[in-house]
Amino acid sequence: MARRRRREAKVIRRVIPKIFTCPKCGIQAVSVIEDKASGIVRVVCGNCGLATNLEYVKNMENVDYFNRFVDKYHSGELS
Ligand SMILES: [Zn+2]
Repeated sequence: MARRRRREAKVIRRVIPKIFTCPKCGIQAVSVIEDKASGIVRVVCGNCGLATNLEYVKNMENVDYFNRFVDKYHSGELS
């Protein structure tokens, strides 16, 4: 008795969001722009203009930069 079990083909997709929600204005308009040539990652909100430059770190993902951006904002470094 062979029970055929259908294996669900799970596609593991790593969706890395590119647009994040701004900690200041609450609008999903924050983009992370890596400039590997200059070693700078610019995180900028397209709505309110909140922005920062971060050092490019290998293997860091957009969300990591975004988290730093939020940390900076909450620590009062950005306004
Ligand atoms: Zn904003």
